[in-house]
Amino acid sequence: MIAAIQVHPHDIRDEGAERVVEIIREKAGITIISPEVSALEERHPYPRGELTHNPVHRTFVSAATIEIPLDLSHALPFYPRLSGPASRGEDYVADLARAASRSGCKVVPWLKALNAAFEGDAVNYCVRTLEGKPVPAWLCPSKPETLSYVVLLVKSVMERYEADTVLLDRVRYPDWSGAEVLPQRMLTCFCSECRRLMSGEGIDVDALAAALGRLLARSGEREFSPEPDELRLIAAWLSFRRKKITSLTAAVRGEISSLAQSAKLWLNLWPPSFAPFLGQDYPALGRLCDGAKHFPYHRLGGGADLKGLVDVMVPDERGQESIFSRMLQLLGLPYDIGLREFASDGFPVDFVRTETAKGKEAFGKTPVFSGIQIWDIPEEEIEPACKAALAGGADGFFFYCYGWATPGALSEVGPIMANLSHGAH
Ligand SMILES: [Zn+2]
Repeated sequence: MIAAIQVHPHDIRDEGAERVVEIIREKAGITIISPEVSALEERHPYPRGELTHNPVHRTFVSAATIEIPLDLSHALPFYPRLSGPASRGEDYVADLARAASRSGCKVVPWLKALNAAFEGDAVNYCVRTLEGKPVPAWLCPSKPETLSYVVLLVKSVMERYEADTVLLDRVRYPDWSGAEVLPQRMLTCFCSECRRLMSGEGIDVDALAAALGRLLARSGEREFSPEPDELRLIAAWLSFRRKKITSLTAAVRGEISSLAQSAKLWLNLWPPSFAPFLGQDYPALGRLCDGAKHFPYHRLGGGADLKGLVDVMVPDERGQESIFSRMLQLLGLPYDIGLREFASDGFPVDFVRTETAKGKEAFGKTPVFSGIQIWDIPEEEIEPACKAALAGGADGFFFYCYGWATPGALSEVGPIMANLSHGAH
């Protein structure tokens, strides 16, 4: 049973590594700290609220920059953009690692595989939408240079911090959310390489593109059901994407194993109900990694901004309720809740149990760690979420996240972990 927590660069820069580690270790009883190596374009906390224990910022908006002084500019046609502090040589992960080792905590760097702000010729390596437009901060896993980049990134970070484990995130295709909600971002990749590879597998790419285009257009008119032929094409496309992500993961797996026999690859995956639509094949990935965190943040709908998607796709309220109910069916989620209720309360806490159980079933002996939402949630719901994860068979917890949680929520975690370790003895 592991207990981990994710931290963002500004947590350490604003509060100091010593203080953050002390709170995580003493107050929350957590021994694994996972610092974000490259950030995302996002508001902290997301989507609302304030950073209640940060002495510098009430809210913070990050860019998709790499946050450690790691120069990868000579190896490939593109490389990740460094943040201001990183380009000045500041290394917050090193500061954290020093403080963590003094307190007996382990640091597991948290990396983003395919998504970052890039410099150089990245546009030729990015995923492309149906219309052929690049999604500029997201690499296409069909390109050999993408594989080289991800492998180099993982290897460089593990060597730099002498880390024996990494948490690899964004091993998937884009979803619809980013700086803004764009349904077109879901329907990738139609770059020339992917078109060629899909054709080679017998997929009629023009017919597929037409089917996806019709699906996007129809959803605005409340119709959401493709014809059987269209369904077959879409299933073949989704399967192609899962194979690409599995191949990328296999390349990283091979590289990590060559670094050290004890080196571990942990993945950060979408909850099992959503994962197949984003390129993540749980059974295949379970054979390649040493464990995975999934994030059934129930109050946020599993981390998926379904409400944002529905709002953009369908203008009127009745149509929105209808499309939301069809989405739940498509995802295999057995909840009889409407969009309004979902927007205010998310999914019931049982979502943590059912998603964890689905992950365990697909993974077999490979550990599944449940992401536990500790921000924007009633504090008394944290323990039921942990219990739901355990009932689903979780092998550990990833609390998300240090900076967004209130001091009260962090204090809530300590007794839960103490009770668990007491119960285990
Ligand atoms: Zn592509």
